[in-house]
Amino acid sequence: MNDTTRFNEIEQQLKNTEYALNVSSIVITTDENGIIESVNDKFCKISKYSRDELLGRNYLSINAVYFNELEEVLRKGNVWHGEIKGIAKDESEYWVDTTIVPFLNENGNPYQYIIILHDITTRKQYETDIESMAFYDTLTQLPNRNHLHRWIAEHEIETNETTTVLFLDLDRFRYINDNFGHQSGDFVLQEIANRLTQCLGETDLIIRQGGDEFIIILKHNHPDETIIDLAKRILQQVSLPIQLLDKQLSIHLSIGISRETGTTDVLDSTSFIESLIKKADTAMLLAKEQGGNDYCISTPEQKIKMDRLFNIELEIKDALKKNEFHIEYQPLINLKNNQIVGVESLLRWSNQALGPISPGEFIPILEKTGDIVTVGKWILWTVCNQMKLWQENGTLLQKISVNVSPIQFKETNFINDLQEILNETQLDASYLELEITEGTILEIKDSAKTLEALQGLGVKVSIDDFGTGYSSLSYLKQLPIDTLKIDKSFIDNLDADGEIIVNTIINMGKNLRFRVIAEGIENKQQLDYLKLQKCHEGQGYYFSKPVKSEVIQKLYHQSSKNWQSID
Ligand code: C2E
Ligand code: MG
Ligand code: MG
Repeated sequence: MNDTTRFNEIEQQLKNTEYALNVSSIVITTDENGIIESVNDKFCKISKYSRDELLGRNYLSINAVYFNELEEVLRKGNVWHGEIKGIAKDESEYWVDTTIVPFLNENGNPYQYIIILHDITTRKQYETDIESMAFYDTLTQLPNRNHLHRWIAEHEIETNETTTVLFLDLDRFRYINDNFGHQSGDFVLQEIANRLTQCLGETDLIIRQGGDEFIIILKHNHPDETIIDLAKRILQQVSLPIQLLDKQLSIHLSIGISRETGTTDVLDSTSFIESLIKKADTAMLLAKEQGGNDYCISTPEQKIKMDRLFNIELEIKDALKKNEFHIEYQPLINLKNNQIVGVESLLRWSNQALGPISPGEFIPILEKTGDIVTVGKWILWTVCNQMKLWQENGTLLQKISVNVSPIQFKETNFINDLQEILNETQLDASYLELEITEGTILEIKDSAKTLEALQGLGVKVSIDDFGTGYSSLSYLKQLPIDTLKIDKSFIDNLDADGEIIVNTIINMGKNLRFRVIAEGIENKQQLDYLKLQKCHEGQGYYFSKPVKSEVIQKLYHQSSKNWQSID
């Protein structure tokens, strides 16, 4: 019997079964050992082999996956149906929906197989595309959150196995988007995703959580040192320069790390991993609060700290409405004649539930929520009004200094609002001095323009915490700046190497015609030293802590006396 006759016979037999062939079918017949005896043209086409190349080969050897299960089923003489990946002659892959029907002899043993295939390559490709769209991030090609959920659901937490989660968030990513555009932002995310992947092993899972956040999950029992080494390697790799337009930028990120060992109590892997992610997220936020570009390991104390920050954020929303803010004033002393020359205004907040909270804690939260803009306006109004009141009752200070947050400084309405406040309170602008930091000048795009506008109004500007940033004095001299306030940390260290720094700032500052103020003077030795160096002004607990406005009046009238008597 030749192939064609046999094929016709088989086709006839099939018509009697539920496996009716349709025109698109690919058909193969094999002997009892799977050796191909006949194929139709459609199989030659999909497999890219000629008929001669196929005849005599084992059917199972031309599939990408060798099915033990399939062999088993066939041996028993059962019909098999499933999807199989085939490898064509040119090594391209195709998928076929496959039905294998054995023909049995009178003893019940297969003597022949007929294999009917349907090409489902397009459908499979479509399924793969859908899978990749649903489970992978299109920008970075990394697995996404859906992938993570599926991964968690499929993973058992084993007893004594330590799982580690690293939560990563780029520092100041908004700055890149705002200053270089979203395309550059996308490029940065792709580049960082590549660098992160290169830092990891094959079994480690990394996902893009969304925006500029990534999560890494390590399943093996790595020792603590390995994890810390990994965090350091990531920080270092990520900070290598990236070329953006005509600039080379160094990107940084913050990493939170949480680790836990599975115990017999762990019933649910989803809540186990999700709680680890939450802890790592909290630790990451703390790494960020502490300046970023670092890692932080999750501890129970951190949770308490974060809960407090959360409560502050909640309570501070209504603080202005509830009249919970007030302002205190700390004297600025002329070190030549011990007279009060001015005051620095310092914001105070006392909340019913939380008690008094220091500005170091709540100002960053006001900045984060953006509420510093409204509160800052209230401060400026209150302070200008207070200065005017003092002038009217004979407390004739030369200046009042107000701290201005970078968020407030870069607001488009900042200058207009200030102008309005000066008009309303009728304070002469020359009595007002604004304290900004070096960071405000260096990091805000149009800071020089705003400084010029302030000069136009007649308002003075002072650089607060001077020496802690990276600005050079000669650069600052090109800007309309009047005063440098040497940071308290240098005054604290006057007996160590602080002396050299303080001398340099005072001498260079005076040569460049800045007024120089020393902050945080706490004792007589510090004061004597600063007087010797002819520092213009001083401020600190040695003279007075920040006090209410009524006290300033009193101090003003006795300030020519010896300061020690005020303590
Ligand atoms: P700053 O502007 O550098 O203010 C000086 C800080 O040092 C004040 O802390 C002051 O109370 C404290 N201080 C002054 N002399 C001494 C001293 O001799 N010893 C010690 N240990 N400390 C001294 P405070 O009031 O807690 O303010 C901290 C920071 O919060 C301020 O640093 C400023 O950056 C910010 N801040 C305070 N009030 C405002 C405000 O109204 N607006 C804005 N944007 N920021 C403010
Ligand atoms: Mg200040
Ligand atoms: Mg300061």
